[in-house]
Amino acid sequence: MSGTNDLNDRDLFQRSLDRVRHAASHAHIDPETLVRLSLPRRVLEVAIPVRMDDGSLKVFRGYRVQYDDSRGPFKGGIRFHPSVDLAEVKSLALWMALKCAVVDIPFGGGKGGVEVDPRDLSHAEVERLARGYVRAIADVIGVDRDVPAPDVYTNARTMAWMADEYSTLMRRLEPGVITGKPVGRGGSLGRDDATARGGYYVLEEIGRQRNWQPAEIRVAIQGFGNAGQHAARLLHADGYRVVAVSDSRGGVYVPEGLDVPAMIAHKRDQRALPAVGTAITNEELLALDVDVLVPAALEDQLTAANAADVKAAVVVELANGPTTAEADRILHGKGTLVVPDVLANAGGVTVSWFEWLQNRSGSYWVLDEVHDKLRATMRQQFEIVHARMTADDIPMRDAAYAVALERLGAALTAGGTAADFQPRQAERQRVAAGAKG
Ligand code: NAD
Repeated sequence: MSGTNDLNDRDLFQRSLDRVRHAASHAHIDPETLVRLSLPRRVLEVAIPVRMDDGSLKVFRGYRVQYDDSRGPFKGGIRFHPSVDLAEVKSLALWMALKCAVVDIPFGGGKGGVEVDPRDLSHAEVERLARGYVRAIADVIGVDRDVPAPDVYTNARTMAWMADEYSTLMRRLEPGVITGKPVGRGGSLGRDDATARGGYYVLEEIGRQRNWQPAEIRVAIQGFGNAGQHAARLLHADGYRVVAVSDSRGGVYVPEGLDVPAMIAHKRDQRALPAVGTAITNEELLALDVDVLVPAALEDQLTAANAADVKAAVVVELANGPTTAEADRILHGKGTLVVPDVLANAGGVTVSWFEWLQNRSGSYWVLDEVHDKLRATMRQQFEIVHARMTADDIPMRDAAYAVALERLGAALTAGGTAADFQPRQAERQRVAAGAKG
């Protein structure tokens, strides 16, 4: 197959479900698991009116999707982005259900989004939007129901506004209803870089298996926000050669390696990447001659149209859904190891769980404790997924999905399946005789 057909015919949610069904053939689950996972439990679409700074009124469209809560409260970030739509939010919510099962934490899957480009809004307008969104979804969230967190173009400050709005509505403090809050407002130490750190711990394991010398390993990172910047910082500090990074406007490439701390400082102060090395497009970044490629921006970046050009031996998906199914097949065929999003970026939700635990107990952990527990979780689950991949000789995504589906299956079918509800033989005969008489 060639071209970009893999993006055209079915929407992101349908394609996401197709991949779950495909991976299910490797999972030891009752068919009812998939039946139950074929639709989200609840979809909420809301209108959020916002008074703009110039006095005008704008109404933004928002969503909260609650996919599955069989293993624990719904859990998932809130995205503020112009291309947010229902198919995307449903996919992200389904992936959260799988992700929480992959790292075996007691949460289900949810996600939220608002169709907006927050870069066009003032801080005060974003605050009004964030608070309006929480008022619109307040009836369905809660510390034991559904726990939001940050995602693309939302951050710790956005979470502070949202948690504050929720407390105001409920007339009591309930910090555990939202994670990713600033440390001074009930956030956990180590939540800021947890997504990247989880991926970094996984890459450490792969490096160990492959006998890597970090100084020889060239890394390209697409997306220079929370996930991308922290990944660059951690890898650079560990001696890896981060040769290219990009943001929504394009990227830069320095084959000898970038001065990552300077890049981060420039991006923070100027809200743009510095003009160093060679300017490249996001498309060119994906095809660079590197050892590790880290998509850390949006979905559907590696497709049938460009997967064959990828030169990296390892792709670490810090973004959610950056690789299409067809790209997966091409990369697998070339021997590229794709560490799937549901494992690679699960450090974020893992430390969100730590934050929720700390909020509920009122006892707060030191940074080392967060890092030690995160590393232990990521290593343990990486080993389980890796062993499954090797034993069944399947791509790592299918292995991660299979592990997740088995854990979800145990919860979803705990009340019994069709096999448990067959009438007993004697009853069947009585029913049959009764029907005749
Ligand atoms: P962010 O808002 O902090 O950063 C997003 C980055 O992507 C920015 O640098 C932006 O310029 C860049 N970007 C936007 N559009 C782009 C495009 N078309 N091409 C290239 N770059 C583009 O968001 P984030 O929290 O870092 O999220 C990035 C990815 O990581 C998303 O897929 C998100 O779902 C995933 N993720 C985030 C977390 C988390 O805890 N923040 C957890 C798990 C997964």
